[in-house]
Amino acid sequence: MDTLPALGVGGVHALVGYGTDRAADIRVTMEAADARDDLDLLVWPRTRDISLVRELGLPRIGGCILLDGAIGARTAALSQPYLDDPDNRGILYFTDDEFREFAAECAAANLQLCVHAIGDAAIEQGMKAYEHLSENYDLHALRPRIDHFCLATPQHCARAAALGVASGIQPAFDHFWGGEDGAYAPVLGVRALTANPLRTAVAAGMVVGGGSDAPITPLDPRLGVHAACNHTNREEALRFDEAVRLFTEGSAAIGREEQARGRLAAGYQADFIVMPRETGGGNIQRMPVLATVHRGRVVHEE
Ligand SMILES: [Zn+2]
Repeated sequence: MDTLPALGVGGVHALVGYGTDRAADIRVTMEAADARDDLDLLVWPRTRDISLVRELGLPRIGGCILLDGAIGARTAALSQPYLDDPDNRGILYFTDDEFREFAAECAAANLQLCVHAIGDAAIEQGMKAYEHLSENYDLHALRPRIDHFCLATPQHCARAAALGVASGIQPAFDHFWGGEDGAYAPVLGVRALTANPLRTAVAAGMVVGGGSDAPITPLDPRLGVHAACNHTNREEALRFDEAVRLFTEGSAAIGREEQARGRLAAGYQADFIVMPRETGGGNIQRMPVLATVHRGRVVHEE
């Protein structure tokens, strides 16, 4: 937390609830967040214990509640087998019924749910459960999330936009592992080239925010914006203004805070950074953050 204002970060979706005592981890983070006036933490309790979350008074649950695993470990759940492991389609940690039931319990408790899904089969499981929920709930208001969304298809993006399903996505995944020569390619084949579909999600009108999944990739939104503008698949790259919006308006919206922050506008929380000169997708990664203003107060200055 001490390092974040210098990176131009004014708010974080903090996924907590690790170790042997998850409740203690969540409480400690909530207390640390309350004690800071230079940073806002949106605490996501990584637990399936709905009564604990209600006791903590949080309006949201999850974060990386795993529907599946990861591509590198070949545990991301795929509709077609791994290229280099033809008997393997990855792992789903819930059955369809189990996840549908859990999502319904969260909605009944009025909790915004966020889960982790990387493979297309896991994203499909999440979408089906949320489609079922939409029969009884307004998902545009509840805004359940499927984060990562790495191997989402154009149809997944269109269905999510229509339903009101949001996603926290990580452009830096493509930066580190995407493209023909990246780590995804030998494992996924041609599917690697359509991974992390930023442009498709934005064009579909999905509510998407930018993230790092730190410590999986560095928590530095300059890297995230750079990665979004320089996607290895040019068709999935974002313009600079869109990439900035992903990490500002978008990240506010996936926390249901779009009325309070994420824009420089009257009535909004005055959060912004100062850079020394004109920037864009080509140079933002190397651009120093001269000042960070949080809630109208300078919290970092070089
Ligand atoms: Zn995750």
